[in-house]
Amino acid sequence: MTSEDTNVPAELIGRLAPSPTGHLHIGHARSFLLAWLNLRSRGGRVILRIEDLDRERVKPGYTDQILRDLEWLGLDWDGPVQMQSDSEAALQAAANSLLESGHAFPCFCTRKEIALSAPHANDAEVRYPGTCRDRFASEAEGQAELGRQAGLRFRCDPDELQLEDGFRGPFTANPGQEVGDFLIRRRDGAIAYQLAVVVDDALSGVTEVLRGSDLLTSTARQWLLQNALDLPHPTWIHVPLVVDAADRRLAKRDGDTTLKSLQDRGVDPRALISWLASTAGQECASRTTAAELVPTFDLARLPPADLPFDGAQERALLSQR
Ligand code: GLU
Repeated sequence: MTSEDTNVPAELIGRLAPSPTGHLHIGHARSFLLAWLNLRSRGGRVILRIEDLDRERVKPGYTDQILRDLEWLGLDWDGPVQMQSDSEAALQAAANSLLESGHAFPCFCTRKEIALSAPHANDAEVRYPGTCRDRFASEAEGQAELGRQAGLRFRCDPDELQLEDGFRGPFTANPGQEVGDFLIRRRDGAIAYQLAVVVDDALSGVTEVLRGSDLLTSTARQWLLQNALDLPHPTWIHVPLVVDAADRRLAKRDGDTTLKSLQDRGVDPRALISWLASTAGQECASRTTAAELVPTFDLARLPPADLPFDGAQERALLSQR
């Protein structure tokens, strides 16, 4: 391989990228199983990256439980477990280079100030009002005037983007209009998810990102960051979510749907894998392993609707102990 070829994926590489901010639940199990099968059935490599950058939310013990959960599900990976915090230097360098190239600017706004700028927004993600864009000639000037540390935001002009998803097909997004200039480094110095995921995927040579469709709205921001950093775009595949009886995406707060809780209650992981695979359109026995699904796996059979998990499903799993 010549140095010019280093951005060309020589092989199929994907990743499982859990955050140790809580216990994994059935929704994670489904996305991880699909990501793993889609890679393994085509001879791909699987990387495990623990996304542990959010110092306020990461709790000790969750990483160990994630490893136990993956083992319980029968999902393996290649190479050592990667901790996102280990790539801190590369992540900070990428943030600094975006500042130097003019793609990013220092932002002194607090979360409260931004929330106050859009008092009627009911969306969790408030559009950044542009307060600090072109406000100070340098970070030092802003710091001297306001007496506080700056974060970094990526300049994001309203512009409709046409992107492609490997499951959902073509889609449009307009991050400049939806979220505006978005955070890439917080004021406490922590690198934000959007930048971290892009830099780490590139460092690992990831060519395929299969994840839950709740992250579809992040994709356009990641596409913009890849362009600005001259990094290749992976193939994105966003799969339907597991939802509760009220049609809400399962969240880490929903305790009884965690994999740990199913393990503690003696559920047979082969029954869970079978339920996840059959509801994903795959033919399988009523108890099966992830490895047994590899030879016949076909993502094209995955139904497009979100998958409900309710009390009846839980009882069905518990009856198969
Ligand atoms: N760590 C992220 C999460 O748990 C997933 C990142 C990604 O797949 O892009 O939500």
